Amino acid sequence: MNVCKKCNNEFQGNYCPSCGHPLKIERINSRYIVTEIGNVLSFQKGILYTIKELLMRPGQNIRAFISEDRNRLVKPIMFILITSLTYTLFVKIFGFNDGYVNYNYDDFNDTSTGLIFQWISEHYGYSNIIMAVFIAIWIKILFRKYSYNFYEILILLCFVMGMGMLMLALFGMIESITNSHLLEYGAYAFFIYAFWAIGSFFDKRKYFNYVKALISYILGMLSFTFISLGTGILIDFIK
Ligand SMILES: [Zn+2]
Repeated sequence: MNVCKKCNNEFQGNYCPSCGHPLKIERINSRYIVTEIGNVLSFQKGILYTIKELLMRPGQNIRAFISEDRNRLVKPIMFILITSLTYTLFVKIFGFNDGYVNYNYDDFNDTSTGLIFQWISEHYGYSNIIMAVFIAIWIKILFRKYSYNFYEILILLCFVMGMGMLMLALFGMIESITNSHLLEYGAYAFFIYAFWAIGSFFDKRKYFNYVKALISYILGMLSFTFISLGTGILIDFIK
């Protein structure tokens, strides 16, 4: 009899029948490295597959991720961090104007508010997750008839906002290469994508869902902005 290294179950054969853990795992070699790189970039699952699926059927795919299969798409928190980093890198490499969080720093130089917004624009990965929390609260309120909990909605937003960051990165890159004003349209594309994805996640046949998705998104972004501004003003006031 073999003893499973993961759950201590005794079994015969090469795999534990109770948890599926293999008796022996392969040593790490060049094939492992090549397979791992292939998996990350793969069109079968991986990041490219995730992008393709989220572009074509966002609502349906995110629903399936939450309730059926967690292995088809890349992990959502990882996805929003990677895509936000991609956006930041593209801004640096191609030098287009960062229009995502568009505040005029000169208005509140050296104030806590200024510092908060500077932090936001330098850490889009974390900021996006915080924004997602605010939008998720509004979605939870406006779509309260559905049984999804707050964390499931947060996962939905990680995928949606990650795709948004990629759209802005792409439009920004084309803008700087062709010297046009495409980034503005990237922002519209982001917005349309977000309310289409959120609306169809809940029920693609209900038109009112798209309106509610749009309202939750706007209210979430406004709450985020007001809380950030409010915190900054409060800190300056205390000082
Ligand atoms: Zn086991």
